[in-house]
Amino acid sequence: MSKTTKQFQTEVQQLLDLVIHSLYSNKDIFLRELISNASDAIDKVRFEAHSDESLLEGNSDWKVKVIPDKTAGTLVIRDNGIGMNIAEVEENIGTIARSGTKAFMQSLKDKASSNNPELIGQFGVGFYASFMVADKVVLETRKGGASTDGCRWESNGDGSYTIEECSREQRGTEITLYLKDEFKEYLDEWKIRSIVKKYSDYIQYPVVMDITRSETPKGVDGEEIDGAGTIEKTEEQTLNSMKAIWARAKNEVTEEEHNEFYKHISHDYDAPFRTIHFSAEGTSEFKALLYLPAKKPFDLFTNDRKKGLQLYVRRVFISDKCEELIPDYLRFVKGVVDSSDLPLNVSREILQEDVQIKRIQKSLVGKVLSTLTEVKEQNFADYVAFWKEFGQVVKEGLHFDYANKEKLQELVLFESTTSEAGSFVSLKDYVSRMPENQKEIYYITGSSRETLEQSPHLEVFRAKGFEVLFLTDPVDEWVVQSLTEYQEKQLKAVDRGDISLDSEEEKQEKEKKREEAQKEFSDLISLIGNHLKEKVKEVRFSNRLTDSACCLVADEYGMNANMERIMKAMNQTVPDSKRILELNPDHAILKTMAAIHQKDATASALADYADLLYDQALLTEGSTIKDPLRFTKLVSELMVKAAQ
Ligand code: ADP
Repeated sequence: MSKTTKQFQTEVQQLLDLVIHSLYSNKDIFLRELISNASDAIDKVRFEAHSDESLLEGNSDWKVKVIPDKTAGTLVIRDNGIGMNIAEVEENIGTIARSGTKAFMQSLKDKASSNNPELIGQFGVGFYASFMVADKVVLETRKGGASTDGCRWESNGDGSYTIEECSREQRGTEITLYLKDEFKEYLDEWKIRSIVKKYSDYIQYPVVMDITRSETPKGVDGEEIDGAGTIEKTEEQTLNSMKAIWARAKNEVTEEEHNEFYKHISHDYDAPFRTIHFSAEGTSEFKALLYLPAKKPFDLFTNDRKKGLQLYVRRVFISDKCEELIPDYLRFVKGVVDSSDLPLNVSREILQEDVQIKRIQKSLVGKVLSTLTEVKEQNFADYVAFWKEFGQVVKEGLHFDYANKEKLQELVLFESTTSEAGSFVSLKDYVSRMPENQKEIYYITGSSRETLEQSPHLEVFRAKGFEVLFLTDPVDEWVVQSLTEYQEKQLKAVDRGDISLDSEEEKQEKEKKREEAQKEFSDLISLIGNHLKEKVKEVRFSNRLTDSACCLVADEYGMNANMERIMKAMNQTVPDSKRILELNPDHAILKTMAAIHQKDATASALADYADLLYDQALLTEGSTIKDPLRFTKLVSELMVKAAQ
């Protein structure tokens, strides 16, 4: 392939513009990103060499070399890692493959939040960070086992790049940054030393640099020889300590070291919310260093997101995203597990089946959940901040992790009718403040607290002083299918089945009233039911309503409005399930209808009223009505009539 000029994918150019113009005030991190990539590349070749030794090419003196050249104004970062072939360079550098990232770039653009580094910091800009300090970047690379066929990529970060074949003796990647004038300080030995120490100390391969010192020659007696002048002596020095942070004693690792290591593995911009560092002994021996992030990543709910933890076996890198180590509902957890028991040549298939991995997972989950429990008990405000970011995901555990149900149900928080918006209550708190005559735990599901606040279903609960939980995350519909009771109290949806909040006496009295009303209005009820028979399953009098005229309820096992909405949003076909229209016999509308009915049981107004009642019920629960035009027309007619 001769030299070809290509355009960056639009998203890459947008990202580059952000990187160059506004992204990080801290430019030093470009070096961290490049060293990080180099170290990952060495990890990869070491791992792949387990099954194909020819990749090593006799070159396993692992290192990342930093070469500043003050005369040329260039800084080179060279590794002997896996390298890339032309196709991989094109795929990795110049396009953004992950669709989540594309969507994210779009949302950044929409929000015009290009000056919001927290947002963009959520995914590593990695290689592109070079363009913060360089106005030209050249990348030369050759894949392991590919004779000398290498590839050269070059760009000024201005929309296009060139790519061509080249010959390279050494496997691995070499990146040359032509530093901008104002960033020539990055050629300074001490600057490089301090950046490596600060950001890349824990990298497990030597990060080296040639250091030249002038020396005056010494005689055999160790004394300097007079008049011999000075000689230049160059030696390759290692700049980092290479200590695997997770292998160190817990109390020896400083918070700052954790922060830097966390940023290295997570590409996060913020410090972690909590750090969990422990080693396990006994049936399964491993060290684990886990981080709970403080902020939810933008792609938490997309499928193309990298999940899993890094897996090492006795300090040898195995995988940078071992999904088997952590269940999906804790997919936000970042970190490293270093096992002493697994074989080095562990394959994907083995990982999926391996009992050791299952044991490790169980233990990690236990630690994460007990850490969260501790935060919740000791610092509730902190826990709420965490819950707002990740609660929606943790709740998935109630559905999928039956073994930890007991712990998880203590961790879930909800908003409720008695807490202000943005405040949360746990099930334990809820139960502890239940009035004595309240027997069940009540909840209502829907798309937002604001809509639910208006729901007529809450009227009777307000009247009784019973707290109702607001379940507004889509996952809640699944949560309540698994979490059906807590402390022997049933969880009950306020818009489902029969509700009975009264004492035996009150119940009997109400039932009597309802039966009377049913009898008194039985013809009217069957007329409404008949008219609405395509839309509702039944029409009956309600004991949930105090102010509103009507509401729709699902029967005990039917589908409620929220579930229907969620299924539709997921493009699923929603089975036809009719609900029950409940009417308030004390409401003036019912009395008016009864009066019309008494005068003329065939009056056409009755059908219109029935339609309006049904639409009203839909509107108050936040559902859409089928025929808004007819609804407005009927309302207008009534308004005109009322004024006549
Ligand atoms: P990230 O490291 O977050 O994936 P980068 O933009 O830094 O993002 O790199 C993109 C990809 O390019 C990497 O995932 C890797 O596959 C490849 N890459 C980058 N640097 C190197 C390198 N030094 N050696 C081999 N591959 C590399």
